[in-house]
Amino acid sequence: MSQYRLSRRPDIGDSVRVSFEFFPPKNDDMEARLWDTVKRLEPLAPHFVSVTYGAGGSTRERTARTVNRILAQSSLTPAAHLTCVDATRAEVDEVIADFVAMGVRNFVALRGDPAEGVGACYTPHPGGYSNGAELVGAIRRQGDFDVSVSAYPEKHPESPDFATDFDMLKRKVDNGATRAITQFFFENDQFERYVEKARAAGIYIPIVPGILPVHNFKQVANFAGRCGAHIPNWLAERFDGLHDDPQTHALVAAAVAAEQVLDLVERGVGDFHFYTMNRADLAFAMSHLIGIRPGEANGGHRAVAA
Ligand code: FAD
Repeated sequence: MSQYRLSRRPDIGDSVRVSFEFFPPKNDDMEARLWDTVKRLEPLAPHFVSVTYGAGGSTRERTARTVNRILAQSSLTPAAHLTCVDATRAEVDEVIADFVAMGVRNFVALRGDPAEGVGACYTPHPGGYSNGAELVGAIRRQGDFDVSVSAYPEKHPESPDFATDFDMLKRKVDNGATRAITQFFFENDQFERYVEKARAAGIYIPIVPGILPVHNFKQVANFAGRCGAHIPNWLAERFDGLHDDPQTHALVAAAVAAEQVLDLVERGVGDFHFYTMNRADLAFAMSHLIGIRPGEANGGHRAVAA
């Protein structure tokens, strides 16, 4: 399908933009691997690269260190993720101020999950921000920053219905969110329907699909179960029996991701967020497929734009 479709869309390279998500490394080996990934992806001039934020002080320091290194040693625009978990408002405000002092102008604002992990019941810190919308407000009070927020094409698992999710997303927009990035998904119809429903609910910020290349199907299936993302049968069938065959698994993963992103391009999507898992290979290949080329201005390089 893609050859035919691509030949009908010679213009896609002009209109497509990517961002990449990393997680902060835990040790020197992981740090070296992340840095190889950053350097491999840097020539693609992504719109921004984001660094996740976890529970616990040491994880938070690692996020700050990683963001700082990206600022100091690359031409990329880092976006710092931030959560409300286990912190007072004053503490979160201080973290925001520290990032701003470092030179950060792009944020990804999240409520976060409890320290016990995804799926455990979330209780806001008594003196803290209680959700993503309040955190967006806190960031925007410190400056006119670019603030991305989460969106859930399959509904947030704690949410009773889509209407509750859209209420929350609307509150985030009202507080100054400039873009929503979705949880990963594999059914493009679901994403398209979600965007239509969001527009109908009066939400007009860009909704960027979060794409997770399936580096390890078993891990993805595990994680999907906990964060409310659905693994379709057709996807499970494609990876069936490949757990001990990494070469074929990698080829199938590339085919699956290619099919998903090219189909989204065909549906008019021009902005993609790749969950890289700190690996460059599939993120680079998918960017190439949708028309991103090294050395071209693809919306990135220290740009602070919505
Ligand atoms: P919110 O948007 O604040 O809430 C999620 C939903 O819960 C709402 O839509 C609403 O339906 C419901 N809800 C919340 N509060 C209420 C309420 N008071 N009453 C009724 N319903 C309510 N996690 C991390 O720990 N670190 C990261 O760096 C990180 N990065 C992420 C990046 C992206 C793009 C995405 C999609 C998720 C990320 N997560 C991260 C995961 C995220 O923290 C979890 O999904 C978490 O469960 C919800 O956070 P949120 O900001 O989406 O929550």
